Amino acid sequence: PPLFANLPLLPADPILDLGRVFAIDNRPHKINLGIGVYLDEQGVTPIMAAVAEAEARVETAEDTKAYLPPRSVPGFADNIARLALGQDSDLPGSGRLGVIQTPGGCGALGVSGGLMRRSGIKTVVMGTPTWSNHRPVYTAAGLAVRMIPYLDRATGGVDFAGYRAAVEQLGPDDVLLLHGACHNPTGVDLSPEQIDIIADIAAARGFLPMIDTAYHGLAHGLDADAYILRSFAQRVPELLISYSCSKNFGLYRERTGALIAIGKSPDRAAVLESHMLDLAREFYSMAPAHGALIVADILGSPELEANWRSELATMQRSIQARRNLLADALEKTEVGDSLSYVRDQNGMFSLLPLSPEQTQRMRDTHAVHMAASGRINVCGIRADNVDYLAGALASTMI
Ligand code: PMP
Repeated sequence: PPLFANLPLLPADPILDLGRVFAIDNRPHKINLGIGVYLDEQGVTPIMAAVAEAEARVETAEDTKAYLPPRSVPGFADNIARLALGQDSDLPGSGRLGVIQTPGGCGALGVSGGLMRRSGIKTVVMGTPTWSNHRPVYTAAGLAVRMIPYLDRATGGVDFAGYRAAVEQLGPDDVLLLHGACHNPTGVDLSPEQIDIIADIAAARGFLPMIDTAYHGLAHGLDADAYILRSFAQRVPELLISYSCSKNFGLYRERTGALIAIGKSPDRAAVLESHMLDLAREFYSMAPAHGALIVADILGSPELEANWRSELATMQRSIQARRNLLADALEKTEVGDSLSYVRDQNGMFSLLPLSPEQTQRMRDTHAVHMAASGRINVCGIRADNVDYLAGALASTMI
């Protein structure tokens, strides 16, 4: 048979395709709640000033494009571990950390999948719903995926009784995939008390936690958002963390991230890091340097780091302001009470209780674009479109 004849044409990724559909909508009042990037109040995804400054310094200093060490560009991996685990963590000095730079958070997830398969893990367990790329990444690594309860759609909070009961059944063949702060797509995070309970269960049952961290700093700030990482790191012997710099450094297209492995002992950490490097070599050899050089420059300079932290805090407040705008506008409609949770959820995303038909109607009738799942990015909300949006939601939901 002709080569590749057995491959069907695949549809475009529905979330990535939303941007194209939005661009060709010529209604002037259109609203884009579909995208997966941060936007400021002017609708711009800015280059952070600290990033621009570091980028200029990196470009001035760069005098060759020869390879850099495959583990990490100088100063990147260790600083990301410090950011994730905290300035005063004793893990970096303990030898129990394996860290490699990866092409974004997705690269880290891919390498983690390979590591799990090599370790004999069978199943990756995920709360429902989860980010649409989680299942494909781990299925591609040859692992089974199992869904357990997470979101309580009635309250817009966590179904903690259901989640906890399912987690109590896990064992050493399993990985529990958790989200760092700002759950995608729901905006619903575990509370610190709930995190401690799940981490204690992980320690007792012996399953491996894997924490996908893609929005560090965008819920309640860098330290508060790292609670989940630090609580698990204290309680379990071994832990994986994927870390994306796409959102909190605004480096999306530069493909910048890390995979952090905490091992039971320094020997075990060395084994883990050696396999992470080997898997990276299989997939893509080594991660792109540019974004990681920028992050290393920022985190290597106390002054630039302080500037970056303050810009990140501004982004976080701006997201919260957009949530408040939406919640205030909804309160003036019939659906305000049932959606009041949008005020308290974290990060850019909330999952609204709309059916695919209703999201279609939002687009066709009201020019409001969002994912078919009902996921919205609150960064599409502005003071001058929020009342229109609330009205469109109310008329569609009733
Ligand atoms: N995990 C989650 C939950 C995400 O939302 C994202 C970004 N959309 C990622 C990982 C990875 O992002 P990237 O590969 O662009 O760093």
